[in-house]
Amino acid sequence: MSDTRVQKLVIVGGGTAGWITAAAFAKLLGSNLEIELVESEAIGTVGVGEATIPQIIRLNGILGLDEADFLRSTYGTFKLGIEFHNWGRQGDRYLHTFGDTGLNLNSVPFHHYWRRHAAKNQGAPDLWHYSLHQHAAEAAKFAHMDKVGNTPMTGLAYAYHFDASLYAKYLRVYSEVRGVTRSEGIVENVARDGESGDITSITLQDGTSVAGDFFIDCTGFRALLLGQELGVEYQDWSKWLPCNRAQAVPSERLETLVPYTRATAHNAGWQWRIPLQHRTGNGHVYSSDFISDEEAGDILMANLPTKALADPRPIRFTTGRREQFWSHNCAAIGLSCGFLEPLESTSIHLIQAHVSRLIQLFPRGGGGTSERAEYNRRCAAEFEQIRDFLILHYHQTEREDSEFWRYCKHMEVPDSLTHKLELFASSGRLGRDVDDLFREASWVQVMLGQGVTPQSYDPMADQLSDAQLGEFLENLRRLIERTVGGLPTHEEYIAKHCAAPVETAVA
Ligand code: FAD
Repeated sequence: MSDTRVQKLVIVGGGTAGWITAAAFAKLLGSNLEIELVESEAIGTVGVGEATIPQIIRLNGILGLDEADFLRSTYGTFKLGIEFHNWGRQGDRYLHTFGDTGLNLNSVPFHHYWRRHAAKNQGAPDLWHYSLHQHAAEAAKFAHMDKVGNTPMTGLAYAYHFDASLYAKYLRVYSEVRGVTRSEGIVENVARDGESGDITSITLQDGTSVAGDFFIDCTGFRALLLGQELGVEYQDWSKWLPCNRAQAVPSERLETLVPYTRATAHNAGWQWRIPLQHRTGNGHVYSSDFISDEEAGDILMANLPTKALADPRPIRFTTGRREQFWSHNCAAIGLSCGFLEPLESTSIHLIQAHVSRLIQLFPRGGGGTSERAEYNRRCAAEFEQIRDFLILHYHQTEREDSEFWRYCKHMEVPDSLTHKLELFASSGRLGRDVDDLFREASWVQVMLGQGVTPQSYDPMADQLSDAQLGEFLENLRRLIERTVGGLPTHEEYIAKHCAAPVETAVA
């Protein structure tokens, strides 16, 4: 076996993607790999990306981060889900929580029992009446809880909100302690091998050359290496996910620190509200085909929950993905490989998923052709699954009160989503892929929340008598009420476990 192993890894870009990549490689392959990260303070980062999904806990676990220290350092809070306002209909509200709803019984998902009960009892409560997360979120309560007492009910599944720039700084310190070197400068030239086309080095504006065996493009929307240099094309998904701009603005912190993100639909997009310990993150995501920037900015500022701390910052994007995620000796991670708009906070998860996949398939040496093909296959499938879940929020709506919503309601959607919608509408069953990022409980909540009511339910849910079912539901309700009653508020919990130093709070 000849020793042509990859010895030097060059990461270009130091946003969230660059530093997660550096931290994970340093931790898992650092003893055999020299790692250099090049970034430019003059260019800066996209500066958003503050809401996450529970998978981030796995990443933090692999890195060995201390949760309380990480939350203190990033002004972080806990997140139980996303509250959607005005999506299925004006005035509607539902929570997509991270946890199970109710309790599955005899291997039958809980929503089938709920559906059976609701079909027979007019005015029966909605599914969320049996959600621990819903009640905890509404009461603004939180605590770490794997299980509910001695019952089979799972506890609170959660993720985080945090300050994105502080998160990247936190991981920079982590990576540098583990041997990653950082170079400051703007990359101006890329050199390639005449025969293979592989990247051999990059040159910074000051003339410094950085050579490497493998390159990771974390340059954000610029996609300097994979897109601009290697010419990998971009698949544009705007016809399904038409939002292409955002304006972001911080405001003062919320009076009550709620443990969830809010996503409020407007006439041509939606607005996020992310509660942090020291401030609130806000942004209006919209489609420039349906609304002007000026109007979008006015809507954002008119709907802020607290006093603005800055002027809105514009961001442009195109939803979609690169045809390949890894070409030659270069993989793109983060915004450089594609972007699914932030409605379900999936981008940081995708960074983490791509880094761990790349590490699993990282070529020891040689071409890595098969590893590359496998990496591209899996990344593409993952992007498409998330895409369908996002389209569901826009397409499955009764709203026809603006040109934007009329477009979304009547657009053609991918066959894969049509199939899921039809199956759920007829039987309450889900045709999700086994490796789908979103669990059955997520699909069920968003389907119901967007107004799809199954005509039927799983016949196995008929195994209980009416009386048994009524008792089961009542016991669940009491258990949830008792459990939430005993929880501290989110605010109290943070104060006790991970309060950030108030005197250094920044806007
Ligand atoms: P960037 O932050 O843009 O970093 C790019 C890096 O490359 C910078 O360091 C820059 O200096 C460097 N660079 C670029 N060109 C050069 C060059 N020529 N030479 C040297 N260096 C260079 N994700 C979530 O998970 N949750 C959310 O709530 C969320 N909200 C979002 C809202 C919006 C409106 C948008 C647009 C994105 C959101 N995201 C969210 C996505 C999230 O922001 C990104 O996935 C994350 O920040 C990673 O960005 P990045 O590191 O790929 O790019």
